[in-house]
Amino acid sequence: MLELKNITKVYPTGGENVEALKGIDLHFRENEFVAILGPSGCGKTTMLNIIGGLDGYTSGDLIINGKSTKKFKDRDWDAYRNHSIGFVFQSYNLIPHQTVLANVELSLTLTGVSKKERRQRAKEALERVGLADQIRKRPAQLSGGQMQRVAIARAIVNNPDIILADEPTGALDTETSVQVMDILKEISKDRLVIMVTHNPDLAEKYSTRIVRMLDGKITHDSMPLTEEELKQEREKAQKRTEESNKKKKPSMSFATAFGLSLKNLFTKKGRTALTSFAGSIGIIGIALIYAVSQGTTTFIDSVQEETLSSYPLTIEAQNVDTSTLLTTFMGKAHSISEHENDAIYQKAMLYEMTNAMNSLETNENDLKSFKAFVESQRADENSKLSSALAGVQYTYDTDLLIYTKNVDGTIMRSDTEAMTMELMKRYLGMDMSTMVAMRERSVMGRFSNMMTSSMALWRELLSGDNGKPVNDVLEKQYDVIYGRWPSRYDEIILFVDENNEIDDMTLYALGLKSEEEIKTLMDAAINQTTIDYEVQKWTYEEICNMDFRTILNSDCYTYDEKTGTYTDLRETEAGLKYLYDNALTLHVVGIAKPSKGSIASSNRSWIGYTSRLTEYIIQHTNDSDAVKTQKENPAVDVFTGLPF
Ligand code: ADP
Ligand code: MG
Repeated sequence: MLELKNITKVYPTGGENVEALKGIDLHFRENEFVAILGPSGCGKTTMLNIIGGLDGYTSGDLIINGKSTKKFKDRDWDAYRNHSIGFVFQSYNLIPHQTVLANVELSLTLTGVSKKERRQRAKEALERVGLADQIRKRPAQLSGGQMQRVAIARAIVNNPDIILADEPTGALDTETSVQVMDILKEISKDRLVIMVTHNPDLAEKYSTRIVRMLDGKITHDSMPLTEEELKQEREKAQKRTEESNKKKKPSMSFATAFGLSLKNLFTKKGRTALTSFAGSIGIIGIALIYAVSQGTTTFIDSVQEETLSSYPLTIEAQNVDTSTLLTTFMGKAHSISEHENDAIYQKAMLYEMTNAMNSLETNENDLKSFKAFVESQRADENSKLSSALAGVQYTYDTDLLIYTKNVDGTIMRSDTEAMTMELMKRYLGMDMSTMVAMRERSVMGRFSNMMTSSMALWRELLSGDNGKPVNDVLEKQYDVIYGRWPSRYDEIILFVDENNEIDDMTLYALGLKSEEEIKTLMDAAINQTTIDYEVQKWTYEEICNMDFRTILNSDCYTYDEKTGTYTDLRETEAGLKYLYDNALTLHVVGIAKPSKGSIASSNRSWIGYTSRLTEYIIQHTNDSDAVKTQKENPAVDVFTGLPF
């Protein structure tokens, strides 16, 4: 049930404001085929975009199933667009290099439906629009009418309640227009279809109701809802809302987005892990889906730009060519023998997989020379490279050891990765040694690095030119909502999401939630039980008063006169307390969140420190006793006293 209440839309343009909609009142039945007619520029597209949540209204209210959208957050609009609305545009907006089937499947990618079901549903949708025999073709091999039918299949595959079509036949000849209209008519039997058109004949022939617009206003409505109908529709909507509320599970970001997916990822390790790995790097792919659902193709460019700024080009000390491994795992390996398809033959999957694992070639990059090259290019203002760079970051293998005191007073390591391993061990039966072994196999190492680096709680901020501690790119992508950006080596900044939220996992890692609470959440998530979920909050001041300390790796080891070796102080409670009390305190000087319109930022909270902290740690570690002693005795491991 959709109600527009005195909706206006004003576009602020340079000088004068454009009043595209001047107070629209409209109600739609759950099930009808509405045609919107009116001259060019009268506000039809604007109204459709507002109904679809692609654009916001200036005043008035859009009421969806009895609920006002005035307080809708981005994620509510996302959910509405993804689950309730299907769009069809005049210009089809298909992805040219993907098959027809893939184009339709893509719009299900973000809905958490399994690959198999996605395929099945996409096929069914294409069947409905009469394209069952064209699914392997690419858009360019189709006629305009066929392309529009693919777009309709894409719009209905999610089974939305509402289909919005903006001049769907605008680019088609009469004959093909009729085919498209037949399909729209067919799908309007069990949902609401709102179609903007230029063509009064088609509107007359196919729709059940015609709404005419002129200059931002409704001038005629052939079948407005009667008072009685309005009442009935509202009651229906009320019932549906109640039913869908009943079905709701506790909303637990950590449990759903993280725990369960990890469980799936690791139980069928190998193949599954790598396939999802391949899938997860399709960032541009997701950008495309987003662009398509938004109906704007220029959007893609800006997404690519922003995506690249937060997923930078990384050059590592070692690189591994994983492509063979990927194809083998995905079962696309070549057959080993030539044969007729007259019987069943063996495929050497196991052999090839092991072989691929063992023959992975690791290349060492000469990073020293590369760094020299990059630096010389950056110094040269005329170089192409320097003009294309937003920033350069050098990371070193420093293991950042940050500790904090938990709410229950225990000193704990503030690190989501270490904690993840711990939780996986406890809940998924996954052994630490398995994880470590996986990391050591270079390919898995890269996989888990990639996974954990986007999950890492502590991340070095990209620094700017001329020793500026924070890069302009970051300053553009985030708004500081409290305090300021860090500048000294002992200053840090906390990033929260666009709704000022920090997920429970991170809260635990920050020491703001007890282990007990996290356990309860985990148990509920794994057992799929409901729990009372009390929302906690912290003031900005409380957040900035959090106490984090960094312990230098080298400080952890103390010389033991008796054995003549070094021992790790962290192994005892007293030792850890001593280290903590004498550690360098890091100050939270600011809180930031993704700026409006920044889409590339990650949704997990994290803490940023400047490269100055890294430099500080390297410097002090090099000056430490343990490192000096080790350097003086290169042949003996000073921790064990044994020769290397
Ligand atoms: P229709 O789809 O009926 O042709 P639109 O809804 O596209 O009309 O446009 C209605 C009015 O709003 C027009 O005057 C148009 O120029 C103006 N308009 C539409 N989009 C924008 C925008 N993004 N910025 C400024 N003015 C706009
Ligand atoms: Mg238009």
